[in-house]
Amino acid sequence: MPSKIYEGVLIHPDLPSGRCGGEISVSSFAITFTSGATRHAISLSELQISAGGAGNRFLFFTTNRESDISIYTADRSILKEPVLASNTRLESQIKSSSKVLRKLAIASMVVVAVVGLGILGLALSKDRIVRGIANQIPVSWEEKASDQLFGTLTAGREMVKNDSLKRVFERAAQPLLSEVRRKGFKIDLYFVKDGTINAFALPGGKVVIQTGLVENAQSWEEVMGVLAHELAHVTNRHHVRGVIDNVGLFALLSAMFGDVSALAGTFANMGGELASLANSRSFEYEADADGWNYLVAAKINPRGMISFFETLQKRQTTLEKLPLSIMSTHPDTKSRIETLKKMGQELKAPFTPIAGSFADFKRALNR
Ligand SMILES: [Zn+2]
Repeated sequence: MPSKIYEGVLIHPDLPSGRCGGEISVSSFAITFTSGATRHAISLSELQISAGGAGNRFLFFTTNRESDISIYTADRSILKEPVLASNTRLESQIKSSSKVLRKLAIASMVVVAVVGLGILGLALSKDRIVRGIANQIPVSWEEKASDQLFGTLTAGREMVKNDSLKRVFERAAQPLLSEVRRKGFKIDLYFVKDGTINAFALPGGKVVIQTGLVENAQSWEEVMGVLAHELAHVTNRHHVRGVIDNVGLFALLSAMFGDVSALAGTFANMGGELASLANSRSFEYEADADGWNYLVAAKINPRGMISFFETLQKRQTTLEKLPLSIMSTHPDTKSRIETLKKMGQELKAPFTPIAGSFADFKRALNR
């Protein structure tokens, strides 16, 4: 009765390349390899069975007589062939070969499990890894990319050039700015003449505030609330993290294994895309919470953040969507307000009133 056919390989010195792929069959007398005209049989009476080859993945059929000739297969089910399984001479060889192959099977299952768990772990801790990588990227790279981006975003827009007015703002924002500058960020503030309520941060520390934002704010504290939020985008490296999120797992892994330069190249080429990559809901919540804490540390009443968001909520329809701007995720304004209100319930710290008249500043800015 002819056996099942198994895929296999013959190693024979007479073959042109020394080996050849074909089919293996088992009969009552022999194991036979065939491939076209090539045929080689090993008599069961002199057959030797062992596991071997790369990673011990194959079953080898050889004889002691012709040690340079062998037939092998990766199909271990061949050992179940009745003529082999019932052969008492081969019993111990089959047993030890099976053991080797089984060990391998367990090892590969372990590998699969480890890799699987690794990927799962990576997915679960992705944000932490991204943050870790972002922290490896020097702030100076962000500053460089930011210069280009700044040019693009402010092209054709009118900047407020009144230095004494800027000084008034800088003085009012001083406690907040020094909180952030202490962390090693070089913060530069710019005012753009634009009636739209908006402000946005660029990687590395440039913050652009539109005059419309100041115009629609009721107090210094409201403006500082927005500024604190924008500054938290900067300190949290949200732009870089957004880029890393976007270039994906591969870049992430290569950066983990030390090749940060590839990531640097990607980052440098992102230019104008940079800002749009960085807005995600979780970044907005993070910027709200950290901004809030910066305000508290600076002894500025953070509730200005809440009241300004409430103003935003009322005007949502007219607002422009700009990357990493205070409005970038405006559908969430309601729940952002709720989150901040919860933080507000725990406030106990005394606050210092902000220096300078806000009304005067507002008037002068819009002149
Ligand atoms: Zn934001």
